[in-house]
Amino acid sequence: MEALSERINSLPISATLAMAAKARELKSQGIDVIGLSLGEPDFNTPDFIKDAAIQAVNDNYNSYSPVDGYADLKEAVCEKFKRDNNLDYKPSQVVVSTGAKQSIANVCMVLLNPGDEVLLPAPYWVSYSAIATLAEATPVIVPTGIEQNFKITPEQLDAAITPKTKLIMFNSPNNPSGTVYTEAEYHALAAVLEKYPNIFILSDEIYEHINYGVAVFSLAAIPSLYDRTITVNGLAKAFAMTGWRIGYIGAPEWIAKACNKMQGQITSGTNCIAQRAAISALKAPVSKIQYMVDEFKNRRQLIIDLLRAMDGFNVNEPDGAFYVFPDVSSFFGKTLQGHTIANATDFALYLLEKAHVATVTGDAFGDPNCIRISYAASEDQIKKAMGRVAKALA
Ligand code: GLU
Repeated sequence: MEALSERINSLPISATLAMAAKARELKSQGIDVIGLSLGEPDFNTPDFIKDAAIQAVNDNYNSYSPVDGYADLKEAVCEKFKRDNNLDYKPSQVVVSTGAKQSIANVCMVLLNPGDEVLLPAPYWVSYSAIATLAEATPVIVPTGIEQNFKITPEQLDAAITPKTKLIMFNSPNNPSGTVYTEAEYHALAAVLEKYPNIFILSDEIYEHINYGVAVFSLAAIPSLYDRTITVNGLAKAFAMTGWRIGYIGAPEWIAKACNKMQGQITSGTNCIAQRAAISALKAPVSKIQYMVDEFKNRRQLIIDLLRAMDGFNVNEPDGAFYVFPDVSSFFGKTLQGHTIANATDFALYLLEKAHVATVTGDAFGDPNCIRISYAASEDQIKKAMGRVAKALA
């Protein structure tokens, strides 16, 4: 331990992955844990994508790909950006990476210097702060809370900006809250950012297709922001391809070039078979994955109803992603079956121990009043899990 770098010693473990590992471990001991911790669709990857991967294996795609991705995949990414987001990117502005997580890490590594501040409207995805810290920048958390539907206001944004602010990370639909910014809300935030032309914007749109009626808007579609926005996306969530690890960015060319250089020293190009399959996924009409979104929508209603039927959960109605993020602060200070619940971490651990339901503490996402529950699980599992939670809290 002592021989390890300060960098790794001070790095927190990813709370989402840690909770999933804990649930797996308990399962391997024969305990029937219901895992609602990981943001992972429980669907199979659609057959037409699997077929493309099989074809790629048979076509002997076994060599290194270009570091930033196959040319025809980058073309497909540009077409997708145009079709879904009305964004004009050239292939030279695109870098394909090993998951959107690596895309975000590349961007942070190439843009941030020690002392730079990274604004994170909370709740934010767990790895944003860790990656910004790895890049030796300072995360600056801007709390929102359920009363403002987990959205940062223009006034809050303006107040949080300092001369050191280098980057702000937006994520809509949001993990963990499910919140979706409307076009008008993004324009109001853009009006603030227009006053600060040196600030870069990372717009993580990985959940864009998983939304329940509110049109998802891309920040880079605002002309005054285009030249300083990095649009991040990937295949994991919409296409049930979490393990395939394909993410990508559309960015100003000089940033894309820098990410390419960074990636060339760290991982090279991403997995060649997954890249070939990604072309089929991106070229397919979005209607091909609508059945999963419809199913998520039903589950969202189910879990909201079940949570609201219990005392103590303050839950809003998220417009996207597959998470609910209830405020559980009404339980703080209470003793349940001999366990004192001081905070959200205690609460999540209590649910794991007593109800055998895995969730993630809101602390990991910068909101200590909440827990994240993923409803990327079958209706039966959700009902069973909430039944157990009700019993543990009775
Ligand atoms: N993004 C997913 C989640 O938040 C996957 C796990 C992770 O990479 O954090 O659960």
